[in-house]
Amino acid sequence: MAAIEMRNIVKEYGDGFKAVNDVSLDIADGEFMILVGPSGCGKSTLLRMIVGLEDITSGDMVIGGNRVNEKAPRDRNLSMVFQNYALYPHLTVFENIAFPLRLQKRIAEDEVQRRVKEAAAMLELNEHLDRKPANLSGGQRQRVAMGRAIVRHVDAFLFDEPLSNLDAKLRGQMRTEISRMQRRLGTTTVYVTHDQTEAMTLGDRVAVLRRGFLQQVASPRELYEQP
Ligand code: ADP
Ligand code: ADP
Repeated sequence: MAAIEMRNIVKEYGDGFKAVNDVSLDIADGEFMILVGPSGCGKSTLLRMIVGLEDITSGDMVIGGNRVNEKAPRDRNLSMVFQNYALYPHLTVFENIAFPLRLQKRIAEDEVQRRVKEAAAMLELNEHLDRKPANLSGGQRQRVAMGRAIVRHVDAFLFDEPLSNLDAKLRGQMRTEISRMQRRLGTTTVYVTHDQTEAMTLGDRVAVLRRGFLQQVASPRELYEQP
């Protein structure tokens, strides 16, 4: 069974414009799926429909075997990482990462401690747990945003160009970390990017969108080595 199953997904905006047009795509359990395509092709809209931040005009979104079209984002058990990481400025790194667990009130404090430290270790943030976001570098802030996404046990991670605000060196470093983290956790991942290197190195498969249509789904190798 696919972890995420999209069946004939359409997103039509008020003026009749279809930002996403009849997209069907199965994402396997544990798979790292990249969404690429030119600006405006519908990548973000599709990602937002998976998370539930955007209503689906028609088609079915099925996650873990359940149709989720009408489910609120908080009932979908997914984590999303944005390019502008939106950390809470008044909270420490520890509390920023712990935040999603605090919302799930039944998690005991020692479990919160354990999970935050585990996530922080994976992202090399252990030395910065007491700092506030203002005192971190861009790369560290993006790591905190990722820590917040991985601290819960979710069915999938969704990334919307998480590295596009970082310089080239940091992007390379974070790419390696994301890849390592995803392999270690084995969590199904959907990752939107413009960056060919990210698509090549991170993806098990790459889905190419053009003007709202799904044009091609292939392995990075098939996609970039074709004549
Ligand atoms: P991408 O992420 O690939 O750059 P988007 O999913 O953001 O593309 O947008 C796809 C298309 O839908 C674009 O043409 C965009 O202008 C349009 N669009 C996005 N949001 C809205 C909206 N709220 N109302 C009307 N059109 C929108
Ligand atoms: P991205 O860089 O992720 O593609 P955009 O800058 O295109 O995002 O869009 C930012 C926000 O503006 C999104 O919430 C999107 O839904 C909205 N938006 C994009 N295009 C339009 C549009 N043509 N009409 C109304 N809202 C839009």
